[in-house]
Amino acid sequence: MSIHVNQLTKRYGNFTALDDISLSIDDGELVALLGPSGCGKTTLLRSIAGMEFADSGSILLEGRDMTFEPIRHRQVGFVFQHYALFNHMSVFENVAYGLRVKPRAQRPPEAEIRRRVHELLDLVQLDWLARRFPPQLSGGQRQRIALARALAVEPRYLLLDEPFGALDANVRKELRGWLRRLHEELHVTSLFVTHDQEEAMEVASRIVVMNHGRIEQLGTPAEIYDTPRTPFVSTFIGNVNVFRGCVRNGAFHSGSWRLPLPRTLDTLHLAEQNAYIRPHDIEILRGPAADWQVSIRHVQPMGSRYHLEAVPVADASGGPGPETESGRITIELTRQAFKALALDVGHRVGLRIH
Ligand code: ADP
Ligand code: MG
Repeated sequence: MSIHVNQLTKRYGNFTALDDISLSIDDGELVALLGPSGCGKTTLLRSIAGMEFADSGSILLEGRDMTFEPIRHRQVGFVFQHYALFNHMSVFENVAYGLRVKPRAQRPPEAEIRRRVHELLDLVQLDWLARRFPPQLSGGQRQRIALARALAVEPRYLLLDEPFGALDANVRKELRGWLRRLHEELHVTSLFVTHDQEEAMEVASRIVVMNHGRIEQLGTPAEIYDTPRTPFVSTFIGNVNVFRGCVRNGAFHSGSWRLPLPRTLDTLHLAEQNAYIRPHDIEILRGPAADWQVSIRHVQPMGSRYHLEAVPVADASGGPGPETESGRITIELTRQAFKALALDVGHRVGLRIH
């Protein structure tokens, strides 16, 4: 059940919401659409569902051109951020709804509907709530019921628009793992919209990074994190230090700092005269063997890891250290490394890029 989107463009008046979007999703994949608010994620999802029609380009489902087909011909299940459950119907009836409203000829007999609804409630592990009404459920439970309801009609495609967006952090985290396991069981081709990069990395096998109606990069979570192809992807996915500077004589120069290029090809992503360096690609040294010296300004314990913020200190020759976009350098250490170095605010240490 593949999805192919070819050069899709969608305008609202003279505003371009989707700008020449092309992507392919294989049968059984779970792909995340990731990008900041307003970048066109919902518009793309609604276009694939047939709730919105593009100005140009095409959409193929399983190789068939569905660009102008209405939603009822596309066999999609949709889950929204805000629970679209019917409050006056029990959980059971909510899940049964899609089956009950089928045309008479396709409607399963009552016994079959009951069997199917209980099977789905089992699948989302909420069969014990069948008789309750949506207002009596927690937010996380409602979204699991919304998913069961979307699955009831056996869609070929599952489209999820920020399904966990309205839930608090702990519940979100729990549901991510749950969704991933559910998908491993069902293998329904799924497109999952989120503006949360951590959520995208945790749930999806591939991520589509969008910005201003365009695709910035499409790849596995590791590809997107390790080899971001644009400055936007570098800064949107994970933390990164942006060093201002230029390339001269085979080295990257920022302030008085000079970094030979071959050594750093893996970690140094040069674009638009900036270098993008991950906080965990910076090593802290006690002693002189460092590229430059910094003073630690802030220590943030994050559980198993520590985030440090430091500012460059003038080097031995009096030159300023490297220049960063924020004026600070963020360094990430494992808890063990942090403890071993016995670091604290005010300490002066040396840094080196891995
Ligand atoms: P996202 O889901 O990534 O937050 P959307 O797809 O909802 O973004 O919207 C993309 C852009 O298109 C936004 O700037 C939004 O204001 C605009 N937009 C969306 N729907 C409409 C509409 N019906 N009319 C005019 N502009 C719209
Ligand atoms: Mg949206």
